[in-house]
Amino acid sequence: MESTIKKINTLKGYALELQKNMTCRPAISPALGGKGEYQKALYLESELNKIKFDELFHVDAPDTKAEGNIRPNIIAKYYGENKNKTLWLMAHMDVVAAGDLSLWKTNPFELTLDKDKDTIYGRGVEDNQQAIVAALLTAKIITESGKRPPINLGLMLLSDEEVGNENGLLYVIKQRPDLFGKDDLFIVQDCGDPEGREIEIAEKNIFWFKFTVTGKQCHASIPDHGINAFEASSNLAVRLTKGLREKFNKIDPLFSPNVSTFELTKREGGVPNVNIIPGSDVFYMDCRVFADYSKEDLVEEIERIADTVENEFKVKVEQEIVVNVASTPTPKDSPLVKAYADAVKELYKVDAKIIGVGGGTFAADIRNLGLPAVVGSKMYSNPHGPNERTRLSFVLDDIKLLVYVITHLK
Ligand SMILES: [Zn+2]
Repeated sequence: MESTIKKINTLKGYALELQKNMTCRPAISPALGGKGEYQKALYLESELNKIKFDELFHVDAPDTKAEGNIRPNIIAKYYGENKNKTLWLMAHMDVVAAGDLSLWKTNPFELTLDKDKDTIYGRGVEDNQQAIVAALLTAKIITESGKRPPINLGLMLLSDEEVGNENGLLYVIKQRPDLFGKDDLFIVQDCGDPEGREIEIAEKNIFWFKFTVTGKQCHASIPDHGINAFEASSNLAVRLTKGLREKFNKIDPLFSPNVSTFELTKREGGVPNVNIIPGSDVFYMDCRVFADYSKEDLVEEIERIADTVENEFKVKVEQEIVVNVASTPTPKDSPLVKAYADAVKELYKVDAKIIGVGGGTFAADIRNLGLPAVVGSKMYSNPHGPNERTRLSFVLDDIKLLVYVITHLK
């Protein structure tokens, strides 16, 4: 491992170059107002071509709204001694928009290297370009080592993660179920901590609820001619938040945060004039709950709370689940978890910490195929905000960890 670590340390300049060339190709999904991942994928493919993979191919999803009319999904494989088992490194090419530019200290789509020569700033540098760099350079190290790894090393560089994976991972699973072998293992570097000791093996079950409150529109000067949907829905929003947090209050120390979460998020529509009492109001709630609570439990409590608002304000409340992602945890004693924990101990000299999180990575979809997936990386975990940053030394450590894991799996 020692000479390998030395070699990995020489890759800092290449990691910077990869980050730079990805950051200036903003791969924003058409659903978020961008052109998609086409340019970024072309660039990455030119870099992947420099590595002697045994297989390199695409499973592109057609999408007329995106540049090139596709959402690219790139798959690469380097065979191990045992060709029937693959360790997959998964990463997504798409990024979210920059958001409010005035909050950025640098141009989000032009990589900035800090004067410490290690910290880099730019949209996507952490989420999820660091994982792309780690996967690509791990493959470079393994393929140039002159020795086949015990099992195959696979790379999946996917599109469309930020808006639900429809044209990314879910498309690949549908088109090429054969790629997901029954003995395969998956590492998703899309979440982590600066010490790199956290291994995420479980995600909460995600429910996105949409609430539509219907009253009766009228002029604000004669409120008794209408029913104010805004007032009723505001009461509903407060009662739901309070009621659900109180009822579903189990604490599980495996998870961070250690409780189920119930958050009001998106609000739709509203009236254009200050003097109109709105006849309808629509809002959403993001709920992330432990597997102990069923969908039925949740819906029953929501309906009970909604009834109190309907009766009191004489409105109609409709609720709908617009997204539901549930997954079973990866077992703590899975060989993948063990190899990862050993790598953390060996390389970082700290004990790994097995955790669960709020959710929203590829891992849930992989676990739902009955396959083991862990999420972990050395990172600040500051995705989607302004001044997104990471360190080049973080990715070098990620590469060391990945090389350790692939060479220690059987
Ligand atoms: Zn991500």
